[in-house]
Amino acid sequence: MAKCLICSSENVKIKPAKLAPFLAYRMYSSRLESTSLIYCKECGFSFFELRPGAEEFRKLYKGYRDEAYQKERQKYEPWYNREINSLLADYYEEAESRRNNLLNFLNKHIQTDTIKNILDFGGDKGQYIPNICSCRDKYVYDISGVEAKNGVISLNKLEDVFGLSFDLIMCCHTLEHISYPSEAIKMIKKIGNKNSYFYFELPFDSPFYCGIKEKLQFVFNRYFKFKDLIVKGVEILKDRSFQMHEHINYFTPKSLRILLKKQGFDIVAEEIVWVDSKWRKQKVMCILAKLGKQA
Ligand SMILES: [Zn+2]
Repeated sequence: MAKCLICSSENVKIKPAKLAPFLAYRMYSSRLESTSLIYCKECGFSFFELRPGAEEFRKLYKGYRDEAYQKERQKYEPWYNREINSLLADYYEEAESRRNNLLNFLNKHIQTDTIKNILDFGGDKGQYIPNICSCRDKYVYDISGVEAKNGVISLNKLEDVFGLSFDLIMCCHTLEHISYPSEAIKMIKKIGNKNSYFYFELPFDSPFYCGIKEKLQFVFNRYFKFKDLIVKGVEILKDRSFQMHEHINYFTPKSLRILLKKQGFDIVAEEIVWVDSKWRKQKVMCILAKLGKQA
C-alpha cells in the first residue's frame, strides 16, 4: 500500500508518470522509463515513487552543469543550450536576488546581529549566503566538490561540519531533489544546537499546477535562441503527462511543517515569496526554525 513519505497517510492518489529521457539515461542508462506520481490528500505532498539511490545521484550530478553535462543534456533536451546552462549554473542576479530575499526575511523575523557564522548546507559555491554585517565566517558544504567563492570557507567532509557550531544553517533548494528528506533533516538537526536558526527554502510548485506564466517567462527570455524557443514551446504544449526530472518531491507549506515538527523543530517564521532574478521569477517557500525542547 502506497503511503505518504512525509505524514505516512495512506490517503493518496496515484498517477502514472515517466522519467525524463535525460534522467533515465544518466541514472539508469535508459533502462527505466516509468514510475508513479503519488499525491497525499492529507498534507499535499507529491513525490515520484521511484527513489534513486546514492549511486544514481552520483551519476546524475557528476560534473553538474559543466561543458560535458550541457552537451549531453542538449542531446535529449535541445533547448538546453550553453547560455541556459550557465544561467542555471551560476547567474549573478539570481544569487543576488536570493541573498536579498533571505536577508529581508531574516531582518523581518529575527535579530540578525546575533548571527556570527553561517553554514550553507548543499550551497554550491556559497553564493547564496546573505551579507549580514555581524557575520564573521561563512561556510559551505557541498558534495559536488566545486571551489567556494571568495570569502567562503569550503567544508568538504561531514566531519568538518560537525566539528563547528553555526548560528544560521541554510538548506535551500535541496529537499526537492533527494530520496529521503526525513533522513536529511535528521542529519541537519545534528549540525546545529539549541541557539542555531535553521532556514529552509524550496520552490513552491506542484506537478498538478501548470504555472504557464512562469513557463512562458522562462522560455521568452533573451537567452533562448528562436529555434530552441519553438522546441521548448512545443514540448510544454505537447507534454501533459507527469514527468520525473531533477525535482522528485513537491512540498506544500503543510508538508514541510510536518517534516520539521516530526524531527522536533519549532517553526519561527514562514512565508511564500516571489524571487525575481530578472530572467525568471520563482515562487519559493521560506521557513525558519529552531530546535524545540523535544529535539
Ligand atoms: Zn502526507
